[in-house]
Amino acid sequence: MMWRWQHWMVVLLVTVAAVSGNNYEGLAGHQIWSLESELAVELVDQLQAQGLLDVVAHTERTRTVRVTPEFASLVQKELHGAGHNYSVKVEDLAKHLQKEKDEKTRQIHRAESCTATSCPFPLTYSYMTFQQMEWYLKELAKNPWVEVRSIGRSILDRDIWMVHIKSGECKGRKELYPNRCRRRASSKPMAVWLEGGIHAREWISPAVTLQLIHQITKDCCVTQDLDVYVVPMANPDGYVYSWTTDRFWRKNRRSNSGSTCDGVDLNRNWDYHFGVGASDEPCSQVYKGTKAFSEPETQALRDAMLQVASKGNLKLMIAFHSYGQVLMYPWGWTADKAPDQQDMVRLGKSFVMKAKSNYGTHYRVINAANDFYFASGSTDDWSKGVLKTKYVYTLELRDEGGHGFDLPATKILPNSMEVLAGLKAVFRKIISKKRTTNTVVL
Ligand SMILES: [Zn+2]
Repeated sequence: MMWRWQHWMVVLLVTVAAVSGNNYEGLAGHQIWSLESELAVELVDQLQAQGLLDVVAHTERTRTVRVTPEFASLVQKELHGAGHNYSVKVEDLAKHLQKEKDEKTRQIHRAESCTATSCPFPLTYSYMTFQQMEWYLKELAKNPWVEVRSIGRSILDRDIWMVHIKSGECKGRKELYPNRCRRRASSKPMAVWLEGGIHAREWISPAVTLQLIHQITKDCCVTQDLDVYVVPMANPDGYVYSWTTDRFWRKNRRSNSGSTCDGVDLNRNWDYHFGVGASDEPCSQVYKGTKAFSEPETQALRDAMLQVASKGNLKLMIAFHSYGQVLMYPWGWTADKAPDQQDMVRLGKSFVMKAKSNYGTHYRVINAANDFYFASGSTDDWSKGVLKTKYVYTLELRDEGGHGFDLPATKILPNSMEVLAGLKAVFRKIISKKRTTNTVVL
């Protein structure tokens, strides 16, 4: 079994707790660095032999090391001198461990439950079943500022739910939500579209999306000038299957005629340069389907998005996926530049900056085709190419590969909170941009 860098943390946590009574002060300023070049392995092992660092996780070709403040610059010099790069995974180990401990304590002490008769908030200590999501949405719909509507049904006849958190003045909402907003609401609010759960195995995507819904609903200042549309679970059949049968199922549950393999990749099924960077082979994970929009799930999403876009104010679309911690802008189908690239990069950077402020999690802004891989028929390209949405992204949530799709549920809350922080910054920017534009035009 390969050692991932996260695994050593448990070992270290136990060790440190044993020697210092759960006090992490001794690790203040210690950092965790990751070296992913095979060529660096020998030098790292030598530095360890000299007592300059600690290898805390490794594979055959990589090393994860703990570096103390006193040797950090010396180790850096040695590594750079030999031409090796490293990335800092943990900035301050003491803070990091304390945060993890606090999170765990909070989760243990918080009584969470979600039943058919009471599901007041989306769970933070465990992933929700599709049924639990529906129970939560039913409760959410009681809120007068939220509309929950089925936009269509999946191939196995499950509802695809869309949540609309309505724009409007804070006035009158204060009793329910104490957050004040001093600005006056705009007469023509903008719209944003958030999509979660299109790939079944990426459980953190609907989990974060539901937390976002919950938090945004509570903060009327965020939605004063924005209509927020969210589909938290775009692929219910695949999600249910990933719970019952195959944890790593990705596609929908289409029974493909003439093949023993089921499923269409819903994020390759949209009608924009359909077929480039997608497979004709039903057994492939990226099988595009028999034709564009062959699937009821993509049809439902398309129709709802067209309806929102027809009002002329859809400014932002984000599809939540995992994993990789990257914010990708189009195109995915070609390496050519998409319209508004510079603006998308700039806005993406403000997301990254804010998302980092809570837990130090680093996201990178990259181009889908050039920096990730070619893919076509995805929600983001269609949104950019057909709807002409100005800001379009696919956000790959946590982590960077240590746990991959099987991210522990303890990460739901921190991942959601940092994305919320990033998202609020993005919302603020697009709202203030609109104001500036209006002033100039008027
Ligand atoms: Zn995905």
